[in-house]
Amino acid sequence: MKGATAQIDSQALQHNLAVVRSQIPANTKVVAVVKANAYGHGLVPVAKTLSSADAYAVARLEEALILRSSGIVKPIIMLEGFFSADDLPVLAANNLQTAVHTEEQLQALEQMTLPNPVTVWVKLDTGMHRLGVRPEEVDAFCARLAKCKNVVQPFNFITHFSCADELDNLATARQIELFNQLTKNYSGQRSLASSAGIMEWHDAHADWIRPGIMLYGASPFEGKTGIDHGLHPVMTVKTNLIAVRVLKQGEPVGYGAKWVSPRDTKIGVVAIGYGDGYPRMAPSGVPVLVNGRIVPLVGRVSMDMLTVDLGPDAVDQVGDDVTLWGEGLAVETVAEAIGTIPYELITKLTPRVIMEYK
Ligand SMILES: *Cc1c(COP(=O)(O)O)cnc(C)c1O
Repeated sequence: MKGATAQIDSQALQHNLAVVRSQIPANTKVVAVVKANAYGHGLVPVAKTLSSADAYAVARLEEALILRSSGIVKPIIMLEGFFSADDLPVLAANNLQTAVHTEEQLQALEQMTLPNPVTVWVKLDTGMHRLGVRPEEVDAFCARLAKCKNVVQPFNFITHFSCADELDNLATARQIELFNQLTKNYSGQRSLASSAGIMEWHDAHADWIRPGIMLYGASPFEGKTGIDHGLHPVMTVKTNLIAVRVLKQGEPVGYGAKWVSPRDTKIGVVAIGYGDGYPRMAPSGVPVLVNGRIVPLVGRVSMDMLTVDLGPDAVDQVGDDVTLWGEGLAVETVAEAIGTIPYELITKLTPRVIMEYK
């Protein structure tokens, strides 16, 4: 027994990329989003497994540099752009593409001397109001970029949806329309859609799509699982039972004595806790898969362990397999029971969890 492992299924990753391709026009290109350590799946192994993607996207310069130093030569886009002018020569030297959305970034591009120009994506704020050039400022911003010797011409356009996972929300259609209107007089490439947009907003496919969560086999839509979309789960988090114990009716288990058994039962002690990235806030009742059946988490999650109610007739033994999410137990189901989203669960595993690639 070795504690918690995250098994990463390379074939599932490749299958999910094929599902992405099957949903878009043949000439639409795919940027595989591998930020945050490929959503917790391991940046370099995931990027190498997805070698048929047309480009990669990250959120931090360090992530881009790790990809380059591992031999990845395809385009890499920095989705949030560079954070300081000092980063710009590093981008140029490593042939990294960047989103641009602030006056500070624009001035850095105008003022610095670079060995070669940089490919940029003007990030447009079409309604998310997090990052992006405001609609009324787009033409002036673009006029300056068009004159900028450090920018590869023509430059490209990118936007991000705030509500694409809500199918009856009109905001997405408004964002698409505004994006099309703002970019209609420019010749660069266009990109709007992440997973929810790819699956449900076909008007948003444009030149480049940016799948993240669907590559990892999970659904961006509440109440759905990746399996509903023909996707395969990529990450399965497993560990073992390290004790099976008798618990009498009326006895509590764990810190704070928060859960009290309503019957005589057997408790399974599972070797995973918040020190591995299993959320401490997970309430009693969250499903856990033990020997092929769902049992409820009971009591508080501790640092290295959690406890499940195996039931009075359980024959489970020390060493038996436990799955926290993945194959056999959808990460979306677990996330919903905890009150979070699959993105957070898969991204937050700690380095103590052993990654196993197959
Ligand atoms: C994270 C991110 C994506 C991928 O989103 P998913 O919902 O995981 O598909 C795409 N574009 C941008 C700008 C992002 O930040």
